[in-house]
Amino acid sequence: MTSDALSAFPAPTDEVVDLCRDLLRIDTTNTGDNATSAGERRAAEYVAEKLAEVGVEPVLHESAPGRANVIARIPGTDPSRGALLVHGHLDVVPADPDEWSVDPFSGELRDGYLWGRGAIDMKDFDAMVLAVVRHWQRTGVRPPRDIVLAYTADEEAGSEYGAHFLATRHRDLFDGCTEGIGEVGGFSYTVDESQRLYLIETAQKGIDWLRLHAKGRPGHGSMVHGDNAVTALAEAVARIGAHRFPVVVTDTVRAFLEEVGEVLGIEVDPDDPEIAIAKLGPIANIIGATIRNTANPTRLDAGYKDNVIPGRASATIDCRSLPGQSELLERQLRELVGPDIDIEYIQRQPALETTFDGDLVEAMSAALRAEDPGARPVPYMLSGGTDAKAFSQLGIRCFGFAPLRLPADLNFSALFHGIDERVPVDGLQFGVRVLDRFLRTC
Ligand SMILES: [Zn+2]
Repeated sequence: MTSDALSAFPAPTDEVVDLCRDLLRIDTTNTGDNATSAGERRAAEYVAEKLAEVGVEPVLHESAPGRANVIARIPGTDPSRGALLVHGHLDVVPADPDEWSVDPFSGELRDGYLWGRGAIDMKDFDAMVLAVVRHWQRTGVRPPRDIVLAYTADEEAGSEYGAHFLATRHRDLFDGCTEGIGEVGGFSYTVDESQRLYLIETAQKGIDWLRLHAKGRPGHGSMVHGDNAVTALAEAVARIGAHRFPVVVTDTVRAFLEEVGEVLGIEVDPDDPEIAIAKLGPIANIIGATIRNTANPTRLDAGYKDNVIPGRASATIDCRSLPGQSELLERQLRELVGPDIDIEYIQRQPALETTFDGDLVEAMSAALRAEDPGARPVPYMLSGGTDAKAFSQLGIRCFGFAPLRLPADLNFSALFHGIDERVPVDGLQFGVRVLDRFLRTC
C-alpha cells in the first residue's frame, strides 16, 4: 500500500482521469476565428483553479477576449540551475459529432479509454502535469529546478494567440528557462511483448504555408481563350502535387532509423530508407514525411460565375521543410511553378533540431525504463509543428515528451485530429508515473 492510499487525497494516477475528463468536457474548439473560439478561457480558468487550490500561483494572460493562457512557476530546490518549461495547449481542432461513436465533448469512459476531442492532443498531457503538480503540492515535494508551466491557447491555428503571444509579449515569464518539454513525443511503439520504442521528439519540420497566385485575362466562358488563370493555376498545383522532393536523411532521422532497423531486424539503407519505413505500419506516415520536404495543395480559390473566366486564381500549399531547407524548398517551388505564378508566404516558421544527448535526455530515458523495463527511447522528427517553435525562439531547447504507453494495436497517429480520438486510461496513468519520476530527477 502506498502512502497515497492512506492519505486523504486521491493518488495522482486516479486524479488524472478526473482532470482529463473535466478538460475533455470543456469544448475548446479552435476554429481559427476569435469570434467562435470561446472555450479556451473556461479551460484556462479550470487549470488555474486546480493549481491555486493546492497553493500554486497561476497567472492568466489573455491575448484577445477569450483567448487565455495560464502560466505558473514551481520553485525548485536549486535556483542555480536553469528552469524547465512544461507546456501544453488547451485548444483542440473541431470535431463533427455525426462522425463519432460518442459525443466528442462528453469525456466518456468506455472500454478502458477516455474518449473525446483532445484526448491525445493534448488534454491528456495537460491533465498528467496537473495531477503530478497537485500531488507534489499536497505532499511537499519540490523539484530540483524551477518548473515553468504554460497552458496555451491557439496551438491548433498557428499559436498567434498562445505561445507566440507569450514568447513575444511576456518573455519575462520564461526567464531562466533552458529546456522544455511538450507534445508530440514519449509515446510507445510496440516491437514485441518485451520491447517498446518510445519516440522522443528532438526535431520538427518547418512550416512553409504559401499561396500561389495566377493572373490571366478575364473573359467569356463561351469563347476561345488562351490566357486562363484557372488553367495556369491548375497546372502549377498539379506539378507541385505530383512532385517528389529528394530524400535527405538528417541526423535525427538517421539515428531513429538505425535504432529501428536494429530492433525490428530490418535492413535500412540510410540513403534510401523508404522500403524500411514502409514496414513501420501506423507510424510510416509520420516518419515517411521526415525524409524529404513535402508540399501538399490544400485549397483552391477561383471564379465567381460558371460562364465567366476570372482574371485571378489562387491556391494554398501546405509545405513542410526539413531543418535548414526552407530556402532551398522555396527555390524548388519557384522552379516548379514557373515565372508566371506568384508565391506568397502566409506562414513561415523554421524547423527545429536538437541532439539526443545530455542530462535531460538521460532523465527521460531513465524514467521510461523505470516504468517500463522494455522501454527503448529513440529520437525522432515530427512532421508537423508545435508550440515548441515559439518557445525555441527564446533559446529554449525543446523536446516532445508527453509519455504515454499505448497498446500494440492502437493506430496512434490516426487519432491525431481524427475521429474517435481517445486515450487509454492505463496509458494516462503510466504517463503520470513517468512524468512524476522525470520531473523529480531532471
Ligand atoms: Zn497538439
